[in-house]
Amino acid sequence: MSRPDSPAGEDLVLVVDDDRTMRLLARHSLEVAGFRVEEARGGQEALRLVEEHRPSLVLLDVDMPDLDGFSVCTRLRELSHARDTPVLMMTALNDVDSVRRAYEVGATDFVDKPPNWVILSHRVRYMLRSSRAMSDLRSSEAKLANAQSLANLGWWEWDLTNGAFFCSERFYTIFGVDPQAFQPSYEALLGCIRDEEQFSVRQAMDEVLCSGGTRTLDYEVRRREGSRCIVHQQTRVTLDDDGRPVFAAGAIQDVTDRKRDEEQIRFLAYFDGLTGLPNRRLFRDRLDLALDAARRHGRLASILFLDLDRFKRINDTLGHGAGDALLKTAAERLETCLRSSDCVGRPGGDDSGPLVARLGGDEFIILLGEVRHVQDAARVARRVVEALIRPFIVNDQEVTVTASVGIAMYPYDAEDAEGLLKNADAAMYHAKDQGRNNYQFYAESMNATAFERLVLESHLRKALERQEFVLHYQPQVNVGTGRVVGAEALIRWQHPELGLVPPMGFIPIAEETGLVVPMGAWVLHAACAQAVAWQAGGKPPLRVAVNVSGRQFAQTDFVETVAGALERSGLAPHLLDLELTETVVMEDAEENIRSLGRLKKLGVRLSVDDFGTGYSSLSYLKRFPLNALKIDRSFLSGVPGDADHVAITTAIIAMARSLRLDLIAEGVETEAQLAFIREQGCQEFQGYLVSPPVPADRFLQLAQVSVLPSTPPEE
Ligand code: C2E
Ligand code: MG
Ligand code: MG
Repeated sequence: MSRPDSPAGEDLVLVVDDDRTMRLLARHSLEVAGFRVEEARGGQEALRLVEEHRPSLVLLDVDMPDLDGFSVCTRLRELSHARDTPVLMMTALNDVDSVRRAYEVGATDFVDKPPNWVILSHRVRYMLRSSRAMSDLRSSEAKLANAQSLANLGWWEWDLTNGAFFCSERFYTIFGVDPQAFQPSYEALLGCIRDEEQFSVRQAMDEVLCSGGTRTLDYEVRRREGSRCIVHQQTRVTLDDDGRPVFAAGAIQDVTDRKRDEEQIRFLAYFDGLTGLPNRRLFRDRLDLALDAARRHGRLASILFLDLDRFKRINDTLGHGAGDALLKTAAERLETCLRSSDCVGRPGGDDSGPLVARLGGDEFIILLGEVRHVQDAARVARRVVEALIRPFIVNDQEVTVTASVGIAMYPYDAEDAEGLLKNADAAMYHAKDQGRNNYQFYAESMNATAFERLVLESHLRKALERQEFVLHYQPQVNVGTGRVVGAEALIRWQHPELGLVPPMGFIPIAEETGLVVPMGAWVLHAACAQAVAWQAGGKPPLRVAVNVSGRQFAQTDFVETVAGALERSGLAPHLLDLELTETVVMEDAEENIRSLGRLKKLGVRLSVDDFGTGYSSLSYLKRFPLNALKIDRSFLSGVPGDADHVAITTAIIAMARSLRLDLIAEGVETEAQLAFIREQGCQEFQGYLVSPPVPADRFLQLAQVSVLPSTPPEE
């Protein structure tokens, strides 16, 4: 296309007039100005020449015998190629009616006849220039619309000075709204966005409305017909000189397909196509994150390298299709088994939960990002091995595969991802050497520890039903009278092979596994029943103290358990003393004020055990409904020789007095210690000086006599 100001030589002007002189004069003046000229002697000929030469402009007389200028102009406008061709009409001087008709039929402009021949060429050039500008504009608009439609681009505009809101046609298509029913406004636009995102999009838009400038946003639109559409929006806001928003515009693009492709690409990059499990790459990312976290929090982490035993045989005999089906089922079993494992962090989407990935072939790997103990890893490995041992149904056939699992622990076996993977792999080969269908730790020593713990744990589970637990009782003695006022019930495990196991040998495992809850309930029932039994035959009542573990105390129905024990045994509540350690009571102090209050309502005594070993806030101690503090025996051990211990013990005793709490000294082994606490005004004590914990009947004998002073009997 020629530029508007280019030499006119390229442009052809068709002069239409039945008057020969007029045609000659017009030709002359136009040719002088550099135009090419064709002539038509009437309307019919003009139409033919327009078809033939496609002129840039038509100079058209109105009065012609065959077909007048108005009709010619009307017909020209019906031709697609001449619809926009400029038509300059020559009308008789001051013939206003003709001028009006000329415009009606689509003429571009008019000149009086005869025209000023000098000015005519300028007039023509000017008309051509503006016609070109118009057609350029039309063409760029068309191109823009085309480009926008190709790019799936729509737009909206908001004039904040008058509230006018406009949307492009494409906007309606993208947003899936009916142009007839939709009332364009900022609120209406936000209303189309998926509920979950509306708030955040509004926030982002409000921000850019305040700050001005541009901002891109992605959001999902709820279309009328229900399909989802992800929209990418480029927002631009103009502020006035006072910083107020005056104009906002958004270019919107439907990026649903792109997002879907991206998701698919991401999926293929990070997940295994067959099983849908994370692949090696995602696993490595997550392993690095987990190791960072473990390092920061000083935690253990573990990876389990798993290989199916003799999987190749299945591929070879039943074909690859069967092999694939088996791998899929194996993957599902692994996931289910990890989901139900209660010994490691929360499974699933959470980054700290266990993660299972497929490395390729028949190799899987499991990440346990949050492991409390070595045996947690062993427990998961055992479950995994058990989960895979069940027969698989493939092609209607029952097949069995087993798994060999190698375990590497962070930080013991390696501190980085590479090292852990390598060592877990080595451990897996070790498991294969051990006859397959088993798991092995990388470090041999861990196999032993984990094994012992597991054996102990599985025995412990059965100990309750086999009634292997017994309670021993340690007398609590009044310092002044030397008489036994009560007993602390202390659990022992009568193990068929190991003999009498002290509580420290199994309580930590019972805590971890939750077994401490049923075990603690048993202790409560047994101790209460025992205290009632001691009263048989009208003997004076004796108090019984029971140790409560943190996990037990945290049970929502703990108060009910205590109430149940009292009710079933018939023990008077004030004869039951619950011992909670300082750490447990202080851990969630606000919450505990309530729980302790509920226990207090039952009428039981509440004591803080091992006092002085943890951290106690005095302000909380005041608010807890407590009865007594038990000074930890570690303080008594240095009394009266060690000045520091003396100072601490003296301070604790003074504090308990000011809080009006009873005091029991634990671990009194010597007369000197007894003399010391007596001097300090401590009311009660327990310790080897009088007796270690003893069976119930032996305790009753002690309770009948004044036990001071005496040598401690044997347990
Ligand atoms: P604890 O509640 O502080 O119990 C006192 C511990 O000190 C008992 O150890 C007792 O035998 C020991 N002891 C008593 N007098 C002396 C002494 O003069 N010298 C020395 N060196 N030690 C003395 P035990 O029976 O081994 O119990 C240890 C811990 O196990 C208890 O500490 C308690 O925290 C826990 N425990 C015992 N029975 C239970 C129970 O039924 N449930 C719970 N949750 N924990 C229990
Ligand atoms: Mg205790
Ligand atoms: Mg204690």
